[in-house]
Amino acid sequence: MIVVQKYGGSSVATTEKIAAVAKRVAERAKEACVVVVVSAMGDTTDELISMARQLSSMPEDREMDKLLATGEQASSALLAMAMHDLGIRAVSLTGGQAGIITERTAGRARILKIDVKRLREELNKQNVVVVAGFQGITENASWADITTLGRGGSDTTAVALAAALKADSCEIFTDVDGVYTADPRIEADARKLDTISYEEMLEMAGQGARVMHSRAVELGELYDVDILVANSTKDVPGTVIKKEDDEMEVRNPVRGIAHDTDVTRITVAGVPDQPGIASRLFATLAHSNINVDVIVQNVGTEGLADVSFTVQDADLEKAKKAIGPVTSEIEAREVVVDQNVAKVSIVGSGIRSNPGYAEKMFTAFAAAEINILSITTSEIRITCLIARNQVKNAVRALHRAFELEKA
Ligand code: ASP
Ligand code: MG
Repeated sequence: MIVVQKYGGSSVATTEKIAAVAKRVAERAKEACVVVVVSAMGDTTDELISMARQLSSMPEDREMDKLLATGEQASSALLAMAMHDLGIRAVSLTGGQAGIITERTAGRARILKIDVKRLREELNKQNVVVVAGFQGITENASWADITTLGRGGSDTTAVALAAALKADSCEIFTDVDGVYTADPRIEADARKLDTISYEEMLEMAGQGARVMHSRAVELGELYDVDILVANSTKDVPGTVIKKEDDEMEVRNPVRGIAHDTDVTRITVAGVPDQPGIASRLFATLAHSNINVDVIVQNVGTEGLADVSFTVQDADLEKAKKAIGPVTSEIEAREVVVDQNVAKVSIVGSGIRSNPGYAEKMFTAFAAAEINILSITTSEIRITCLIARNQVKNAVRALHRAFELEKA
């Protein structure tokens, strides 16, 4: 039996915590071949980034990747040492040594393939294999460079290794107990879910639930890897992200409430109501690599319309710069920025096949006197943009309206 476990940065933040993880892994290693993926200790990655910025205004991609990869290399070596002290055979490997081949794209390289030869050999030698997360290597042997997979990428490393090794279990350990029906810090009655489907998890993550790296969930779906998310310090069951369960869909169509306060609404007012305008506006945003969400255009009057969309707070300045030339070319009347907004969403695969969810959501908002600024939907999600200071009320109102506190 092969088990892939991953421990996040907060679970290996200190040497004491690494020692505790070593004990947990040792327990698991009694009954299975274990591959452990680790993140960098605590805030190491942020600290490395900050050091790079202190020394260089534009650190080169190649050096940045090499620098950031060291965080996970340190934690993996330390965990292997802690295992040795418990009398467990263990070996630590970098992503490259573990056979993880990626494209060259700096900072967010995608995995191209995994050559599991070395991993299998080490497992055959009865070693626990500790792999540095969040990194790989480019293909060309003599010119190979170290790459990183993007922030939070150790989750992706773990799921990719589980897929490549056809592991029996993929376990992501973190500082929360699993995936909840809503943020437990906001909704005291939030309930931990036993299971959630890949697509529901992706929608929850995309709308602000920060439990797992989206790319890891996508990979799990692609290779049909069941992913357990659980607490690294407790012995309580977590949440399994897996293929849709039909029966469950019928019983509980709304699985969770996601919220995201990290949004800014930009309105380009008074743009010509004619073909090609939206395309020019959003093309410049796409070229600047800015993700846009909740797009609304009102019905034009006298040949003019208003176009609104949301971006992440961090992208605001970049977005304003990107649309500047276009808005002056098309002689838009003004650009209005509103940071007092937030998104609140209901997510559930049952939404697809059952009418009435939008109505129930809007009624709950009306009863709580929450004004809806705009609405977007996917097949399995309805998202409303509301005032940021009403987020907590909104989450609680929806949690109650959809009776999510009941199992
Ligand atoms: N250490 C990296 C980060 O903080 C990768 C990870 O933790 O998964 O983003
Ligand atoms: Mg981290």
